[in-house]
Amino acid sequence: MPRKKSRPSAALVVREERAVNHRIALPRNQRHLNFRDKWAYAPAPEAHNYIKIQSRYKLFINGKFVTPRSCKYFSSINPATEEKLAEIAEANARDVDSAVKAARRAYNKSWSKMPGRERGKYLYRIARLIQEKSRELAVLESMDGGKTIKESRDVDLPLVAAHFFYYAGWADKLEYAFPGRTARPLGVAGQIIPWNFPLLMAAWKLAPALAAGNTCVLKPAETTSITAMHLAEIFQEAELPDGVVNIVTGAGHTGQALVDHHDVNKIAFTGSTAVGKLLTQAVAGTTKRLTLELGGKAANIIFEDAAIDQAVEGIISGIYFNQGHVCCAGSRLFVQEGVFATVIRKLKDRISTLRVGNPLDKNTDIGAINSRMQLNKICELVDSGLQQGAELVQPRLRLPEKGYWYPPSFFTGVTASHRIAQEEIFGPVLSVMTFRTPEEAIERANNTPYGLSAGVWTDKGSKIFKMVNKLRAGIVWANTYNKFDPTSPFGGYKESGFGREGGRHGLLPYLTLN
Ligand code: NDP
Repeated sequence: MPRKKSRPSAALVVREERAVNHRIALPRNQRHLNFRDKWAYAPAPEAHNYIKIQSRYKLFINGKFVTPRSCKYFSSINPATEEKLAEIAEANARDVDSAVKAARRAYNKSWSKMPGRERGKYLYRIARLIQEKSRELAVLESMDGGKTIKESRDVDLPLVAAHFFYYAGWADKLEYAFPGRTARPLGVAGQIIPWNFPLLMAAWKLAPALAAGNTCVLKPAETTSITAMHLAEIFQEAELPDGVVNIVTGAGHTGQALVDHHDVNKIAFTGSTAVGKLLTQAVAGTTKRLTLELGGKAANIIFEDAAIDQAVEGIISGIYFNQGHVCCAGSRLFVQEGVFATVIRKLKDRISTLRVGNPLDKNTDIGAINSRMQLNKICELVDSGLQQGAELVQPRLRLPEKGYWYPPSFFTGVTASHRIAQEEIFGPVLSVMTFRTPEEAIERANNTPYGLSAGVWTDKGSKIFKMVNKLRAGIVWANTYNKFDPTSPFGGYKESGFGREGGRHGLLPYLTLN
C-alpha cells in the first residue's frame, strides 16, 4: 500500500476551510470522517489464471455431462467486464424429462433404499471436496456473478460446505429429528434457484433433500450456471450414484418444464414473488409439494438507545452486502427521530469509504451488478424515487467503464407510498424513514406485502422481545444483521413465501411423516 509521509491521523479531520489556520474543533455533530486518499489501497487482485473454465458446459444428467437435445447454448458473461466466460447448454422439455427420469431411477434403485448413514457419507464427502476446492469455486462465483471475492470466499463458500456437513449429520438421525414419527422421502425434487447466491442456494436446496433420501433435478439461474456445473464435477468425484443429482441449465422455460413435469413430487423455489405466484398456480390441483422463498423489503429499525456506530455497520452490511442482491436485505431503514441526524451523518461518511470495483480485488466492498437487466431495474426504481420527491445521497466515485455498476446509495425523504419503500430494488439502494415510538416502528415495518426479515437495534433486551414478537418477519436479527447458519431456519411470511430452509425445519419439506 503506498503511504504518504507522516501526517496527522486520518480518522477525524475538521473541515478544511476552518482548520487550515486556526485548528478550531468543530462541534461534535459537524465533524465527519474524511479519508481522502489516505485509504487508497493498492490493487490486490485474486489470481484466476489457474482456473479451468470450459468453453462449453453441457447438462449433467444421470451422472454424465450430456449434449442438450435442444442443441442450443447461451452465453454466460462476467458482469464486471462484459466478457463472455462460457457457453451454457439450454435444456428443453425433453432434456428436463431425461433428468427427471434419471432422478426417478436413482430414487427407486439406490438412494431411497440406502441406509441414512451411507447417504450421510456421500454428503460428508461432498462437503470435504467443496472445502478443498473452495478457493477456486469462490473465484468462479465472483467471476460469473459479480460478487466480491471477500464475500464469496469468506461467506458463501464456508456456508456451502457447512450446509452439506450439517445435513450429512441428519441423514442417519431422521427418527430423532421427528420423534415418534416415521419419516419418508418424497421422491424427486425439482429445485429452482436464483443468481444472487448460486452455490449457496444450490446447497440450501440439495443438502436437506439428499439427506432426507430424495433425488434432485436442479435448475440454476441463467446468468450464474457455471459454479453449479463445477459442483456437478464434485458429485462425480464423490462417486455419488448416477442420477441422484441432475442439473439442467437454461432460462425460465427450463424451470417451467421442471415445474410442469408430471413425475416431480416436490418443487422448491427461490426467486421473485412474481415467478413464485406463477409456480403456485402451476402446482395447484396436483399432488406436488411446494416451498417458496421469495422477495423481501426488510425493516432495519434503529432506536435512540442503540449503539449507533455498531448500528451504522449493521445498516451497511444490511443493504450493501452482495450489492444489495439479497432477499433479506435491510432495504428500509427506520431511524428513531432523536438520532436521525446523527445516523445520516455517520452513514454518509461510511458509504464514502466503500470501495466499488473489481470483484476479484480483495479490498473491494461492492462488486458488479449481476446483469444489465438488474442494473436497469435498479436505475428505474431510483428514478421513480427521485420523481416521487425523495432525496438521493450517493458518494462521489468513479465507476469502471466496462461492466455493470451501481454506487452505494440511500434515499431520505421517503414516504410509505413511494415505490422505493414498497418494491424490492435488489441493489445497493436504501430507503430511510423515521419513527417516534416502538408502536409506530412496528406498524410501519409491517406495512409491506413482504415478511422475510427485519433488524432491531437497541440497548434494551425488553424492547427486543417486544419488537420480535410483533414484527411479521420470518427472521429478526437483534443488534446484528445478515447472520446465517445452517442450523437456523430461514423463510418468510406473506408474499415472501412459505416453508423453511435450514435447521431441522429444513428437512420437513422433503419428508412425509407418518
Ligand atoms: P426470477 O424469479 O425470474 O428467477 C429465479 C429463478 O426462477 C431462475 O432460475 C429463473 O430462471 C427461474 N424462472 C424464471 N421464470 C420461471 C418460470 N416461469 N418457471 C420456473 N422457473 C422460472 O428472478 P429474476 O432473476 O428475474 O430477478 C427478478 C427480480 O426477482 C429481482 O430483481 C429481485 O427483485 C427478485 N429476486 C429475488 C430473489 C430472492 O432471493 N428472493 C433472487 C433473485 C431475484 P432464469 O434465471 O433463467 O430466468
